[in-house]
Amino acid sequence: MIQKIDHLGIAVRSLEEAIPFYENALGLRCEGREEVASQRVKTAFFNVDGVHLELLEPTSADSPIAKFLSDKGEGIHHIAFRTSDIAGQLAQASGAGVRLINAEPFEGAAGKWVAFLHPKSTRGVLTEFCALKKGEAAH
Ligand code: ZN
Repeated sequence: MIQKIDHLGIAVRSLEEAIPFYENALGLRCEGREEVASQRVKTAFFNVDGVHLELLEPTSADSPIAKFLSDKGEGIHHIAFRTSDIAGQLAQASGAGVRLINAEPFEGAAGKWVAFLHPKSTRGVLTEFCALKKGEAAH
């Protein structure tokens, strides 16, 4: 079951250049940074009352974020829904005819398990499911 919007992923060319907007213009505080090697990105997180903004900077030219930036420029990259059962959520989406990018969840930033739905199946919105645990209910 979907529990909440967990985060919005925002593609940026440079964390160093993007973070000051969120800190100085919006008054948010960057609460952490992490490199996610599997996705070839560096991330910075902001907490907005439990919904996070996840800035994403590519670390290599073959990063999915590098492709997004060259196709579309900076902007909102994906929306992530927290679910208590990521495998069940993927099965439900697949059963509804949605094309999955990841049939199996993988370990993303902050130790969460994540999987993406294909934007061609979601009206153009890259959609992520994330869970605190791979196969069992999150608390
Ligand atoms: Zn995400």
